[in-house]
Amino acid sequence: MKRIMPSKVILRKILIISPHPDDEILGCGGTIIKSIEKGDKISVAYLTSGDINQNIREKEVLTVCKYLGINSHYFLRLQRKGLTVSLENIKALMEIFEKVKPDLVYVNHELDADYEHRIAYQLAMQSYWRFNSDQAPNSKVIGLLLYEIHTPMEKYNLVEDISKYINKKMKAMSFYKSQLSKSRIDLAIKGLNRYRGRMHENIHYAEVFQIKKLTSL
Ligand SMILES: [Zn+2]
Repeated sequence: MKRIMPSKVILRKILIISPHPDDEILGCGGTIIKSIEKGDKISVAYLTSGDINQNIREKEVLTVCKYLGINSHYFLRLQRKGLTVSLENIKALMEIFEKVKPDLVYVNHELDADYEHRIAYQLAMQSYWRFNSDQAPNSKVIGLLLYEIHTPMEKYNLVEDISKYINKKMKAMSFYKSQLSKSRIDLAIKGLNRYRGRMHENIHYAEVFQIKKLTSL
């Protein structure tokens, strides 16, 4: 497995697209912590906040963002019935692209078992493509990376060693109490990160990504 380390770009602006509050930590929490340590600026766009318990879930987000030092977060508050690949939703996400002007964008991969995650992927791809089409060459998003949550990816081409950050990732996840009371997905993801790490020599825990689009890194 070839490792591609984006070491040439310093102080990157990174936008994480998270279908629900907690997906950003499950899919790339270790990488977020690692990037913040390097000095990158992290923004998270939450597409939904839960139809019924919005206040609780957004409070949990605030705790997580404060704990990790995430620079900015955006709530799109799309309702379950409204989570479609509509022009209105694409434009709402593009507004966040305009505000953040990201160098890198992360979203879950297209084959996730969760239907809303698959819509999130489509929305992100549409927004990414439209945003980049309008940008001057030096202000385009340079990379779009896919993360895994419920369904492990069959193929990936970037491995991030998160061994140093796994405990902090789990601690961040522990703030999403409303979700963990339904399912201990945090433990499943810890197991996945362990599996990904052990498939590579000397890595205890890893998050893997598929680089979907890349202009230069
Ligand atoms: Zn989700």
